Amino acid sequence: MAKTAVPPSFLPVNQSREGEDWRCSPPYQSSTQDEFDSVKWTGRCHCGQVEYQLKREKPLTAKFCHCQICQVLHGAPFQLAAIFPKSDVRFTRGHEKLTFYSSGEKRKEHKLPCKVYCSYCNTPIMDEGRNMCLLFPELIDVGPDLEDQRKRRETFEIKCHIFYGSRIVDIKDGKPKWSGLDEKSELLDDNGQVLLHYTETKTIEDNPLQM
Ligand SMILES: [Zn+2]
Ligand SMILES: [Zn+2]
Repeated sequence: MAKTAVPPSFLPVNQSREGEDWRCSPPYQSSTQDEFDSVKWTGRCHCGQVEYQLKREKPLTAKFCHCQICQVLHGAPFQLAAIFPKSDVRFTRGHEKLTFYSSGEKRKEHKLPCKVYCSYCNTPIMDEGRNMCLLFPELIDVGPDLEDQRKRRETFEIKCHIFYGSRIVDIKDGKPKWSGLDEKSELLDDNGQVLLHYTETKTIEDNPLQM
């Protein structure tokens, strides 16, 4: 959809200038409270200055990503990413306090896909793609209630592992494991042995961050 360029002087006060359009779109500025009537989950950073709500209960999918970028940027052997459409996410606190990092450019800028952090405590908030957010279930707040914790485990259970070829630890959970992107690389067993070679004939799903 082509956008007509509007000179900055004609923009309403609450609208950002060209290049900052993303500030006016989900999840930074989304839908009305009505659309978020039934909030399914709330997530927040460690210091609590950034908070978001989810109106969708289950992610489109959830994966463990063992790629080296996730390992380094999270300081963890792998990342648990739950994929949500951006329109299902809404910041209720601190969206003006976020910082961005483009791993492709190695620059602190909002260039998609990019990583989003709380600028105060540096908690990674999400990986932002064009239409999707990769959220981290660790941030979803359920409190001490055991039943809520069980529900969170069930909701965010992973479908598969990706980039298992560059794993730091073996995960013997019997879930599908891909050497690179899912459906787009070799299928491995828990020990990293090839079960199925990738054939170009497969229909493939693009990297969710490019969606
Ligand atoms: Zn914080
Ligand atoms: Zn990764």
